[in-house]
Amino acid sequence: MNFESVRVIVTTVLYMVSAILFIRGIKLLGKADTARRGNLLSSVGMLIAVVTVLLEKEVTDTLTAPPLGNAYVWTAAAVLLGGIIGAVWAKKVEMTGMPQLVALFNGFGGLSSLLVALTQYMTDPNVNAFSAVTLGLTIAIGAVAFTGSVVAWGKLSGKLFKKNVSIPGKNGINAVLALAGLAGVALYAVSIANGNAQIGLTGIVLTTAAYLLLGLTMVVSIGGGDMPVIISLLNAFSGLAAAFAGLALSNSVLVVSGCLVGTSGLILTLIMCKAMNRTLVSLLFGSTGASKARAGAGSGKEPKSMSVEDAYLILEAASSVVFIPGYGMAVAQAQHAVKELCDKLEGNGAEVSFAIHPVAGRMPGHMNVLLAEANVPYEQLKTADEMNPQMSNTDVAIVIGANDVVNPSALDDETSPLYGMPIINAFEARTVFVLKRGKGAGFSGVENPLFTNDNTVMLYGDAKQTVSSLVAEFEE
Ligand code: NDP
Repeated sequence: MNFESVRVIVTTVLYMVSAILFIRGIKLLGKADTARRGNLLSSVGMLIAVVTVLLEKEVTDTLTAPPLGNAYVWTAAAVLLGGIIGAVWAKKVEMTGMPQLVALFNGFGGLSSLLVALTQYMTDPNVNAFSAVTLGLTIAIGAVAFTGSVVAWGKLSGKLFKKNVSIPGKNGINAVLALAGLAGVALYAVSIANGNAQIGLTGIVLTTAAYLLLGLTMVVSIGGGDMPVIISLLNAFSGLAAAFAGLALSNSVLVVSGCLVGTSGLILTLIMCKAMNRTLVSLLFGSTGASKARAGAGSGKEPKSMSVEDAYLILEAASSVVFIPGYGMAVAQAQHAVKELCDKLEGNGAEVSFAIHPVAGRMPGHMNVLLAEANVPYEQLKTADEMNPQMSNTDVAIVIGANDVVNPSALDDETSPLYGMPIINAFEARTVFVLKRGKGAGFSGVENPLFTNDNTVMLYGDAKQTVSSLVAEFEE
């Protein structure tokens, strides 16, 4: 057996090992108690995959080349630069900034697949028909994932498109862009088959431009409540782009990892769609972003507020209490104080549950992660479907920094951008406490009629401070 055959066997086996680690890792990520191990296994898989690339013939052939043509120098520089930026960024980011960071990482995933495909084209445009089509699709999906994710990042961080943008004739424009990009892929594949690389370049440019623009027009008009779904769809796109890049380059580990990201992102998208009572079609082709009904418009009624001392008296007499956490709990980092209050209420004989909305916070599972960190038992966390039937028998619902996910206009106001989204029916509880700092709107920017209901009282202030004050009342 010669050296080249040994190399092929070794790299194939190593790629298989890393693919198995990715698959095992993603399985372990499915449960809170094994997620850490899943993350570690997947990281080891990625390390093996990167090291294996360094053993490929095209790379080892450059070992003695000068720095500019040496693949090891470029790889080391990329790993060093990317590693430092990633580590500093991840260390600095606040928990509340995670969603926009994840959105940006999705975008970088799409961009790297796009660049890999463009580089492949520049190195050797005369590929076979299969590679031409997969390269074209990599460019298309990578481009849409990139600009779509940058827009999502801008919206989530409040740095771009603060107001929902409505594009007249959006569906027509999107359809034209999508078809133009596909025509570009076809043009590239056909012209390469006929040996005309120059026309092939036109196809590549057309696809890149059309799909970069499509990412923008597709995401810019997505309304508040629908952002989580579009983020997980973009995540699926970045995986699909990597999978197509893997097919174009005949790299099995890229195909496996891309498919894992693509399919898990797609499954999450469908789960989120179901939870939000949306369909993928209505999300992409609807016009939720255009509606600004009731946004900022007051009902004329002022919410009632109450002191912590008076709220304590109501809580002390309560025999059933439901916490409904939202984004504000994450901002305030109130989860540990909430657990303390939960313990005090249970010590006082009350039955306590947590109602978790699927899009509460700014990322899937946001509330579960925070409450798990504060050691709230997993069994105490209930879904909207489990809690809503019990809400009318609940003495006190404590809404902690949640807004959109308890907004009743989602149920009865057809003009609301939240209309159709299931909510936690906090309004049905006998008394509703809403903990927030002031009159700030939720992510969707619409008014919340819950706050002016007769059975609702506001406890204004930072959620952590208010909850800690309630705990202190129980201790006196
Ligand atoms: P919202 O964003 O609707 O509301 C959060 C509320 O928290 C605000 O009204 C704010 O009011 C209050 N708040 C902020 N800081 C504090 C603080 N320190 N103490 C007390 N209150 C505070 O949150 P929800 O969780 O109800 O809804 C999530 C929204 O985010 C949905 O629209 C969802 O679609 C969207 N989204 C969700 C994602 C996900 O994957 N989960 C991803 C992207 C978007 P005030 O300023 O007055 O204090």
